[in-house]
Amino acid sequence: MEPHDLDWNIDTLAIRSGHQRTHEQEHSEPIFPTSSFVYGSAAEAARKFAGDEPGNIYSRFTNPSVRTFEQRLAALEGGERCVATSSGMAAILCTALALLKAGDEIVASRSLFGSTVSLFDKYLGKFGITTRYVELSNLEAWEAAVTPATRLLFAETPSNPLSEIVDIAALAELAHRHDALLAIDNCFLTPVLQRPLDHGADLVIHSATKYLDGQGRAIGGAVVGRDKHLEEVFGVVRTCGPCLSPFNAWIFTKGLETLALRMKAHAANALTLAAWLDAHPAVVKVHYSGLASHPHHELAKRQQRGFGAVLGLEVQGGREGAWSVIDATRMLSITGNLGDVKTTITHPATTTHGRLSDDQKAIAGITEGLIRIAVGLEDLDDIRDDLARGLDALAG
Ligand SMILES: *Cc1c(COP(=O)(O)O)cnc(C)c1O
Repeated sequence: MEPHDLDWNIDTLAIRSGHQRTHEQEHSEPIFPTSSFVYGSAAEAARKFAGDEPGNIYSRFTNPSVRTFEQRLAALEGGERCVATSSGMAAILCTALALLKAGDEIVASRSLFGSTVSLFDKYLGKFGITTRYVELSNLEAWEAAVTPATRLLFAETPSNPLSEIVDIAALAELAHRHDALLAIDNCFLTPVLQRPLDHGADLVIHSATKYLDGQGRAIGGAVVGRDKHLEEVFGVVRTCGPCLSPFNAWIFTKGLETLALRMKAHAANALTLAAWLDAHPAVVKVHYSGLASHPHHELAKRQQRGFGAVLGLEVQGGREGAWSVIDATRMLSITGNLGDVKTTITHPATTTHGRLSDDQKAIAGITEGLIRIAVGLEDLDDIRDDLARGLDALAG
C-alpha cells in the first residue's frame, strides 16, 4: 500500500489503491499474462532468486496483476497483507495448511458453507486436525468447545441462509484468551458492509467468486490479515500451487471498483424485498438481519454497515410450496450461486444443503419450505413481480 492510501475512504480505495503504473503510463490496470520474468544479468537473477532483491520470478509466486488485486483487497479490509488464491476453498485450505499441524483443533460454526465442512472433516481430518462445530451465535458453546489443542476459530457471519450473527469482538477475545486465531469468512458482506479485522479477527477469508467479482465471471479467493500469518499462507500457495491467474485477478480488481456501489444497492434492494415478503400471506417467516424482528438485529446494526443481500424465506406448503414459488419465476436464476448482479433463487434443503441428514437439517434450520434468495440489482419491481406470481398462487 502507498502511504497516501491510508487516508482514503473505502469507496476511493476500491477504485484507486494497489495500482502502480508501468512506464507505459496506462490509466486502467493492465493484465500481465506471463508465466515467468526475465533479468538483465545473471547476477540480477541470482539476487532475485536469493531474495536479496525484490521482483517477480514466476507467476506461481507473484504476478503484478495478482498483486494489484491483493493490495486493493488488503486496503479495503484494513489488513497488512492479502494473498490471493485460485478459489475461496483454496483460501481456506491454504490458511489451514499454513497455520495448523497434526493434533491441532478447529472450532467452527456449524452453519458453514458445505465444502468448508467437507474440507475440515474429510481432508484435514485425515491429517489429524479435528473440528468441532457449535451454534454460531452461542458464545458459551464456543467457550465449551475450546480445548488446549484449539488453534483456530472459524466462523461465517452472517450465516447462510438464516442470517444468524456472532459478535466478532467477543469471539476474538475468546480466541485470544485461549491462544487461538479467529478467521472470519466475509464472503456475504464484503469489507464494504463489515470489516472483521476492525473487531479483532486475525484473518479474513474471501471467495472472490461472489460479490468481489459481482458478475459471476470467475472463480478465485483471498486471505487477508497480518504479515506474519500471511507470509506462511503465501509460502503454501507458492509451493503447493493454488495461485490466482492474472486474468481472474484483473477481473476481481475491476470488480472491486464498483464493490461499494453494488453492495449498498444490493442491501437496499434486499431490505425492501424482505419487508415486502414479511407481509405476504404465503410467507411463514423471513430470515434477514435487517428486519427488526430478527433475533440478532441489534448486533447486526452495531457490527455491520448494512445487512447484506442474502435472505431466507419460509413459505407455506413445505417442499411443494417452495418448489412451486421457484418454478413460477421467469426472470430469477435458479442456481446455487450468489453474489451476482442477477438475483438467484435456491431450495437449500434439496441443493446446497441436500447432503445433510434430516437431523443436521433440523439443527441448521433448513426446513423443506425454506427458499434462499440472493437479491441482485435488477429493478425491485421486477424481482417482486417474479416472486409474486408463485406466492400469490400459494396464498390462494
Ligand atoms: C462460495 C463460498 C466459498 C467457497 O468459494 P469458492 O470460490 O467457490 O471456492 C466459501 N465460503 C462461502 C461463504 C461461500 O459462499
